[in-house]
Amino acid sequence: MTLDFDTRFEPAYGLAVPVADGVLRLTVNNPSPFTFHGTNSYLIGKDTLAVIDPGPEDDAHLDALMRAIAGRPVSHIFVSHTHRDHSPLAARLKALSGAVTVAEGPHRSARPLHLGEVPAMDASSDTDFVPDLVVGDGDVVDGDGWRISALLTPGHAANHAAFSLEGTGILFSADHVMAWSTSIVAPPDGAMSDYMASLDRLGGRDDRIYLPGHGGPVVSPQKFVRGLKTHRKMRERAILERLVLGDRTIPDIVRAIYRDTDPRLYGAAGLSVFAHLEDLVGKGKAVSDAEPSLDGVYAPAR
Ligand SMILES: [Zn+2]
Repeated sequence: MTLDFDTRFEPAYGLAVPVADGVLRLTVNNPSPFTFHGTNSYLIGKDTLAVIDPGPEDDAHLDALMRAIAGRPVSHIFVSHTHRDHSPLAARLKALSGAVTVAEGPHRSARPLHLGEVPAMDASSDTDFVPDLVVGDGDVVDGDGWRISALLTPGHAANHAAFSLEGTGILFSADHVMAWSTSIVAPPDGAMSDYMASLDRLGGRDDRIYLPGHGGPVVSPQKFVRGLKTHRKMRERAILERLVLGDRTIPDIVRAIYRDTDPRLYGAAGLSVFAHLEDLVGKGKAVSDAEPSLDGVYAPAR
């Protein structure tokens, strides 16, 4: 099965783009190799609104959000996860609107872990955000003409949640599943075993369309999720093969299997290989010289 990424996207910075009945998308002008054309915020409702992922600290984006809100009340601000391209603007939007912030919880790592030197990424963590309302898996928030339920989907981040707009078949998949690229699963925020389990969660649902945190919609979500699982299993096999061929460190493996990758993403690629190795050690398919870390020495299990 091939995984077809869809990189068509018109960001329309500053403008609210209707993407479904009662759903507007506003894209932040923060393009990067990690954020594609930028972070998507969504406005939901017609009279009293909800916002999903207000975005990074960005004056122009706050102005664009307020223009699109157009004086209407905002009851809730949903936050998918606490990376700096999604959550920080919640504080100022809350101050302006009086809305309640909703999320799985404040920032945390997937597990305590010694990493060595971690490369800086755009998706660095927002440790200031604390939600007013903490939601667990399946928890429902009722608004004015809309109902949103939380679907906990750790993997990209430990506190990652997707949000289902009940009765519409729309799932706001944030950074867990995106049409333009695979999502970054990198310790310490992310964990490969969580990510794969969260893909299984989505695969068992019948959502009609995903509206992600970056880029355009995922229009055949079940097929796409199956493709993502296959892709990760192929990557896992490729890493095991490199171990069998004698590679022992993460930089060796990255050089071998990310030959065609933008070098700006090598740091993220190393973390992704690390996430796979950690998972492989956990499953007994690989061994490491000590507790798995970025500068660890790995070998295939005997
Ligand atoms: Zn993001």
